[in-house]
This record gives sequence, C-alpha cells and structure tokens, in this order.
Amino acid sequence: MIEEYRGVWVFIEQNDGEIEGVSLELLGAGRKLADKLEVPLAGVLLGEGIRELYSKLIGYGADIVYCIDHPVLRDYRTESYMKGVNYLAEKYKPEIFLFGATPNGKDLASAIATDLSTGLTADTTMLDVDVEKRLLEASRPAFGGNIMATILCKKHRPQMATVRPKVMKALPFDATRQGEIIEETIDLSEETMRTKVLEIVKDVTKNAKLADAHVIVCGGKGMGDAAGFQLIHDLAETIGASVGGTRDVIEAGWLPHELQIGQTGETVTPKIYFAIGISGAIQHVVGMKNSELIIAINKDPNAAIFEVATYGIVGDALEIVPKLIEQFKEQQK
Ligand code: FAD
Repeated sequence: MIEEYRGVWVFIEQNDGEIEGVSLELLGAGRKLADKLEVPLAGVLLGEGIRELYSKLIGYGADIVYCIDHPVLRDYRTESYMKGVNYLAEKYKPEIFLFGATPNGKDLASAIATDLSTGLTADTTMLDVDVEKRLLEASRPAFGGNIMATILCKKHRPQMATVRPKVMKALPFDATRQGEIIEETIDLSEETMRTKVLEIVKDVTKNAKLADAHVIVCGGKGMGDAAGFQLIHDLAETIGASVGGTRDVIEAGWLPHELQIGQTGETVTPKIYFAIGISGAIQHVVGMKNSELIIAINKDPNAAIFEVATYGIVGDALEIVPKLIEQFKEQQK
C-alpha cells in the first residue's frame, strides 16, 4: 500500500569515515521536500565505526539517522550495502529515497530499485514535490539535453532518484539541531559474501576531484590538436588550476574520460572557469553553467559559450593563451 510509505530519505555515502559532499547537498535538498510534505528527513548511514558521523548528519538537516554499524560494511560492496539498506527501507518504508550520482551511489540505487521493484530517475538536476499527490518530481535533461523531462513514479514506493554532485546546495551546519538515532543490527557474515575487497587503490591523479576544483581551465576542439591543447595544461599549471575538456576533446584522445565536463561527464561549479576553444553546446554548458565566474575565449563572436560567459575574449586561443600565461607569470614574480 503506497499510503504506508512516509518520509524522505537520503543515502549517506562515506568512505573511510569521510562523508561525500553530495550526501550533505542531498540533505539540503531533502530538507525542502520533507518540509513541504511535513514528514521527517532521514539520513541512512552504513559502515564500520561510523558513530561519530551521526551528529554531523543531524547538523546538516536530518531529523533521523538510520544506521547499521558492522565490520562487513567497512568497505562499499553492492551485496552487503543492498542488504542493509533494503532491510531498513522495508522496515521503515520511506516515500522518497535520494542517492548521490557517484559511482557507488549509482550502483547501489539501481540495485535497490530493482530489488524493491520501484522506479529510479538517474542523474536528476532538479527536485520538487507535488504535495497533494505526494509525488516526487525529478527533472533531468533528455533527448541530448534539448528538453528537460520531469519524471514521476506514480505506482511504486519508494520514489528513487540519483542526483549529481554540486547541483544541490548543502545547508549551513547547525550544531544546535536535535535528532533521533536509530541503530539497527542485521545478520551479515563475511563468509556468505560473494565478493571480497582485497585492496583499495586510491586514484592519485592530479585531477581526480575535478568536481571540487576552485579553478578549472577547460579546453575544446578549438585548440586544434594535442600540441595546441598543451597550452591548456600550461595555463592550468601556471595558475594552479585543474584541467577539463569537452567531449570532442576526450574523443580526440587529448584527455582521459574522467576529465570530461558536461552532461555525460562531470558537473562542476568552480569559482573561476576558463572555457577556451569551446563552442558552448548545451551538453557542455549544463555541466559548467553554475560556475561563479566564466571566462570564454573563442574566435567566433557568435559562439554560444559567450551567452553564459561573464567575460568573453574574441580571438585566436593559440595566440591569447600564451599571452595570458606570460602575464600570470609576470604577476607571480
Ligand atoms: P566544437 O563544437 O567543435 O567547438 C570548437 C570551438 O572552438 C568553436 O566554437 C570554434 O569557433 C572555436 N575555435 C576554433 N579554433 C579556435 C581558435 N584557434 N581559438 C579560439 N577558438 C577557436 N559535450 C561535452 O563537452 N560534454 C558532454 O558531457 C557532452 N555530452 C553529450 C551527450 C550527448 C547525448 C550528445 C549528443 C552530445 C554531448 N556532447 C558533450 C557533445 C556536444 O554536443 C558538443 O559536440 C561538444 O561539446 C563540442 O565540443 P567543443 O566545443 O570542444 O567543439
């Protein structure tokens, strides 16, 4: 019975006791939905030795923290986490359940939706709720980004969605907030697990956390070739920025896939975003338009990127970027 399901839940992703930023952002977004529906907002936290995180979740907006602390849950695995989360979801029946669209969040959300036979909207960029019908309105770009689709899950519960990092805003931390902690225990044993974590190899590439970068120099196909694209690396190096690229740049093999910015890559919100030799296709713009300050360089004065740019420079990037590098170096002396 759909009416039995009440409350808004957020899956809290933690790695080594560090809560992922997107989980706090989702507590901010979930708070608004819960307030509209007049229900509690809950964080769902699994892991080992996680008790010190409870107060943080309450401070960021949760009314309740459902948690399972178990050695088998120390590292993320689909099987053990799905078992734990489904146990809680079947017992407490949330009407809305949000996950970060991180690799683990996407993996877990799809496994849970399948197991609970409910619907999941992936890569949501806007969330709202129809209070009267108690329906989650999960919106995301569709048909190559040309339209926004609002997706409803009318007949099944919970209504699930994954949301990209940096799209929603976390609430300011409030140490005075009070909440309830509900610790559950479940029967999990390492022997019954079909997979084992043998080793965790951390990604130590310089740009691993593109989504968290304060300054990004993003290059497009307008850099001409791999040699021209080296100027993007040089500028980034000079000002201590991270490097990103458009899909065309990734397809040309000038950068690895994890550095793609846009609809099918990373969503970023740095303080400063350089868009150099980039046309400004909607699929790129959706991933960077919320940057605080956008500086675009393009030789075509009618390029769409100028529509979202704070400052625009019309000209040849292969001439302008070396001059910028020179100027920045001059100022650093
Ligand atoms: P182009 O569109 O070729 O633009 C190059 C620009 O450089 C032009 O504006 C040109 O005027 C300028 N230029 C050329 N020479 C110079 C010079 N010497 N100096 C200065 N300017 C110069 N794209 C993404 O980026 N991210 C995504 O996640 C993404 N996802 C997609 C998903 C789907 C389903 C689809 C259909 C497309 C997706 N795309 C994505 C591709 C997107 O539509 C564009 O094709 C892509 O963003 C264009 O990349 P670009 O701006 O580097 O190249």
